Amino acid sequence: MGAFDFTGKVAVVTGAARGIGQAITLKLAEGGADVAICDLKTEWLEETKAKVESLGRKALPLAVDVSNGDQVNACIDTVLKEFGKIDIMVNNAGITKDGLLIRMSDADWDAVLGVNLKGTFLFTRAVARPMMKQRSGAIVNIASVVGIMGNPGQANYTASKGGVIALTKTTAKELGSRGIRCNAVAPGFISSKMTDVLSQEVRDKYMENIPLRAFGTQQDVANGVAFLASDEASYVTGQVLSVNGGMI
Ligand code: NAD
Repeated sequence: MGAFDFTGKVAVVTGAARGIGQAITLKLAEGGADVAICDLKTEWLEETKAKVESLGRKALPLAVDVSNGDQVNACIDTVLKEFGKIDIMVNNAGITKDGLLIRMSDADWDAVLGVNLKGTFLFTRAVARPMMKQRSGAIVNIASVVGIMGNPGQANYTASKGGVIALTKTTAKELGSRGIRCNAVAPGFISSKMTDVLSQEVRDKYMENIPLRAFGTQQDVANGVAFLASDEASYVTGQVLSVNGGMI
């Protein structure tokens, strides 16, 4: 069992096929949760499903585009039918389409806001009703350090993540009286396939601004999510946990 006890809990994780979403899923399953794993295609979820099952937990793979309201509602209906309840919702699915503001297309703006911000809203709205009925629930949204500080070349992405932070605070205020908590994790520079290919020079430049002198891992993010999703965080809501090595 992991450091946090999720025995008997049901979690939903978006963008669970790989990366941070897979790490979050496994952390929750390690603690005892059954997990509905959501991504654009169910085939992509086979690896995550096998890993959850090897931990002795149930995994329910679901194909959903988080930016599509009908698909999101259908997804949550299926989870409720299969698992009977939802205790934890993790909004992790996210995309980037970087480019300078003056050259950014409407399509690139809409795509990033649609997945990162609208997707988080749609899943939050869909789980709110069942969580209100059971008078408990924990929602954890994945923001980003750049949603707090801005970043050149990422107008769409930074706006989406700043929006996720504001949405997190509003959700906490609207749903707190019903026993539902909502918090965000804002990761900094996390090692991934994408960051592994950066030149040493670029990596050194980033590193100068990280007091802990290391990039974060997917596990570091998953640990923060697990805390906020757990009963140990029962008096924590509307907060943003920065997991960034001290960058800001
Ligand atoms: P990733 O690209 O490896 O994984 C994202 C997952 O989301 C993929 O499996 C993808 O298929 C899925 N996805 C994308 N669009 C979707 C949609 N419309 N519907 C359903 N699923 C969709 O990314 P990652 O690095 O693991 O990032 C996960 C989250 O963490 C994102 O929200 C990202 O913005 C955030 N984040 C990442 C970093 C980092 O350094 N990697 C830093 C800060 C924040």
